[in-house]
This record gives sequence, structure tokens and C-alpha cells, in this order.
Amino acid sequence: MYCNSCGKGIAEDARFCTYCGVVVGTAPRAKQLIRPRSNRKIAGVCAGFGEYLDLDVALVRILWVFVTFMAGVFPGVIAYVLAWIIVPEESAVRPVVAAGQPVTS
Ligand SMILES: [Zn+2]
Repeated sequence: MYCNSCGKGIAEDARFCTYCGVVVGTAPRAKQLIRPRSNRKIAGVCAGFGEYLDLDVALVRILWVFVTFMAGVFPGVIAYVLAWIIVPEESAVRPVVAAGQPVTS
């Protein structure tokens, strides 16, 4: 790729331009546990864990239900509600542009 500042060719995975020192590209986003807005059944907790752990969401749901019933339902439900409260929703972390709003600026 090329530096946006000086235009010199730099390594594809470079985070800084080796010529002018400017920050280029985007720093790799730290993996964050969030509740995605899509692909959710209740609050997106299982979908979030699946995404975070690189697991199939269906597998996470099956495991969650299985563990919940094995543990006597209540702890699993409490854990789900806690995760619901604690894990931020996707929109809070990655702001989505509101559709249909008039451009005022
Ligand atoms: Zn540069």
C-alpha cells in the first residue's frame, strides 16, 4: 500500500509509514465481546459469544441450553441476563449511521 501522507510505497501490514512516520491504515481492532444486532434470537448473547470465540452460533446456543438445563435452569438464565446487561450492544460500540435522517450540516 501507499502512505496517505507522503505517497511512498510501504508494507501492506505497516501501521506506520517508514518514511514520514505517519499512522497508516487502521490498527487491528481488539476483539471485543459484543451483542450483534443481527443473527440474534433473544438479546444476541449467544451470537456475541459465538462471534467472539469463533464458534458456530447454533453450537453456542445448544451448549448454553444444555449447560443451563444441566445446572438446573436458574444459573444459566441468570448468566444470560447478566451477559445481556454487561455485554454492550453492537450499536453502542460500532455506531451505525441512522438511516432516513435528513442531512442538516
Ligand atoms: Zn509517509
